[in-house]
Amino acid sequence: MLNAFSIDVEDWYHILNSPATPEVMLWDSLESRVETNLRLLLEMLDTANVRATFFWLGWIGDRNKSLLRECSDAGHEIASHGYHHVLPDKVGAELFKDDIDRAKKTLEDITGKQVLGFRVAGFGISKSTSWTFDIIKEVGYEYDSSVFPGFRAHNSMFATSVGTHMIQTETGPLIEVPVAATKVLGLRLYFFGGGYLRLSPLRLIQWGIKRLHQAGYPLIVYIHPRELDPDQPRLPLSPIRRFRCYVNLKSTLPKLQWLLKECDFVPICELANLTQQGDQKQLSLPFMLPRLKILR
Ligand SMILES: [Zn+2]
Repeated sequence: MLNAFSIDVEDWYHILNSPATPEVMLWDSLESRVETNLRLLLEMLDTANVRATFFWLGWIGDRNKSLLRECSDAGHEIASHGYHHVLPDKVGAELFKDDIDRAKKTLEDITGKQVLGFRVAGFGISKSTSWTFDIIKEVGYEYDSSVFPGFRAHNSMFATSVGTHMIQTETGPLIEVPVAATKVLGLRLYFFGGGYLRLSPLRLIQWGIKRLHQAGYPLIVYIHPRELDPDQPRLPLSPIRRFRCYVNLKSTLPKLQWLLKECDFVPICELANLTQQGDQKQLSLPFMLPRLKILR
């Protein structure tokens, strides 16, 4: 079965929902570790001959243009993680629209390729901010990968479908590729990204993938460059956030190496039957997705 390997391209201080998170105006003054960590990921992917989807922050892309082009030229899909890593419920519809529109244009200008996919900061879409999907489609994205079908600090989308589905927005259909969840006795369990991946033993991850594939769902791995960096500076977070953000950082690399060796990955746009073109006017729309479900 085809799966997707995704990376949210941001730096060590892009952690949400904490008073310790530095304000945007301070970002330029902080040490940048994203290039070193991203190069490590690019080397791993190259060795494994895997093409991935990189959800870049526009702000990071603007400051690392040649690395962004390198990433795109290596055959990886360049998608958007917004410009300033904003949460829709914190900034409201108007500023959110400006932010994700700016990110799309920035990444397209630098790479010369159309940006089809979007993932919001912190999987931060909830039932109360479902207007976010209308804006994502309105500014020109064709798919979204922001839904975490469960309970989280800044969202709650538990009732959402766990597989790829279609969301009907005000301006047309938007493909949704949610985080992969394994269902066990009615419970949804998560092993395949971020702190869940770092906390879960490899055997549990292997078991989860088997169950996921038996149910007919692709594996969607998500990771941040900082999760390969045990030596990153630590933000003064609350004890529980410190645990979530920094636990088992040394385990990320061997787990990713195993995943890249054992599973077949394609960029998310290919998983969703979309074609990314250098010519921004050409696009094949996947109106006949398998297991198509209309959510709204
Ligand atoms: Zn993020």
